[in-house]
Amino acid sequence: MWLQVLYLCLSCLTLCQSQAQLRASLNRSNDQAGRCHYTFTVASPVESSCSGSSMKPEMDGVLSRLTLLEALVSRLIAGVDGDVGTRAGENGEEGLQKAYSQVTGERNQLQQDKEHLNKQVQELQRRLDELSEEAESLRQKPCQQTHTSQHENRPASDPAYDSGNASYQEMKAEVTEVPASQLIPEVNHNFTGCGELQSVGDPVLHRKADSITGKYGVWLQDPEPLGTLYTNKTVWRIDTVGKDVRQLFAYDDMEQFSKGFPMKVLVLPESVESTGAAVYRGSLYYQRRRSRTLIRYDLASETLASRLDLPHAGFHGQHPYSWGGYTDIDLAVDEQGLWAIYSTSKAKGAIVISQLDPESLEVKKSWETNIRKNTVANAFMVCGRLYTVASYTAPDTTINFVYDTATNAGRAVAVPFKNKYRYNSMVDYNHAQRKLYAWDNFHMVTYDVRLGRASHGSS
Ligand code: CA
Repeated sequence: MWLQVLYLCLSCLTLCQSQAQLRASLNRSNDQAGRCHYTFTVASPVESSCSGSSMKPEMDGVLSRLTLLEALVSRLIAGVDGDVGTRAGENGEEGLQKAYSQVTGERNQLQQDKEHLNKQVQELQRRLDELSEEAESLRQKPCQQTHTSQHENRPASDPAYDSGNASYQEMKAEVTEVPASQLIPEVNHNFTGCGELQSVGDPVLHRKADSITGKYGVWLQDPEPLGTLYTNKTVWRIDTVGKDVRQLFAYDDMEQFSKGFPMKVLVLPESVESTGAAVYRGSLYYQRRRSRTLIRYDLASETLASRLDLPHAGFHGQHPYSWGGYTDIDLAVDEQGLWAIYSTSKAKGAIVISQLDPESLEVKKSWETNIRKNTVANAFMVCGRLYTVASYTAPDTTINFVYDTATNAGRAVAVPFKNKYRYNSMVDYNHAQRKLYAWDNFHMVTYDVRLGRASHGSS
């Protein structure tokens, strides 16, 4: 700006000089004697504002004012810069301190929140453990009372509990009254075809679960896999403790399974109920939680392939095995296909066997047995025959009943069976491996089985 002022002043000076030049003049004339006269005329100092005498002080004044102006401008610029710099510095420092204390405050708040949440998680975990323990002890009670026939410890305030237990006693009596097996097996150790169950070996341990969610569950191999993605070596496992069970663990083979290294975890579209799932021809079959709906889940494409209600089937505690645990619908696979083991209100708690279409899940044919479902610990199918396990806790128990769907006839048998870990929640047959798979109190075990021809004509 001061440059503009300087320019204006210089312009003024130039203008004044021009005006002064206009007012001075040189004249020439001849006098009477013929001589030349030169006259130089200058305007009077009074008349002119731009006289030569006043120019110098004015120029000096302008120059001194310019100098002052320059100094002032310089000072202003320097001052403003300095001022701004100082303020910016102060402001910056203040701002940083402010931001720092704000961030620190937020961090402290977050830490507090985190601690609070951690406490809540711990509390919830503790309650979950307590509830799981309680659930287990409740499930065990009816069986213990049956075995001991002592009713003193039964809660008097729970009539449903009483009536359930009474009916259990009655049903148990029905089973034990069936005469012992008349089976005379033709023992042939090289027998590989279909036949009756001759014996069950000792349990072989493959894996022990390392958390409360592995107390009970279901683990299987596909006896007839499809495609190449998964084979008959692939091991499948579902921990069924919890309300929203959806994780299906896949292991490359038995070795990886034993080491506990899954190759994949599949997330199922619907929650799994209990331990009755089956794997067959590339699909996982299971009962949807709190329903009689059966699900076929295609393992390769990881999609829901079919879903269908199992007609009239009891579910969610209506007709479980003696173990309880909502084992109302138990799916099974054998040499002849896919089966459902369950009961209906029409069958009044007796075991109903239905052969299912593995594609559509429709019932192809049904059989009604005369064995009460809640008097046995578990069941499985071998060559079209249903076998039941007498107890899930007794270390030395038996396969106590067989029902042949080919002859529509059932009878009692007594094939020794061991619950080594005393809490067997699942027993299933795999015809490709010719083994029983079981989940016994955190322990995942297999049993070798031996089949043979029956002596009395049932095929
Ligand atoms: Ca079973």
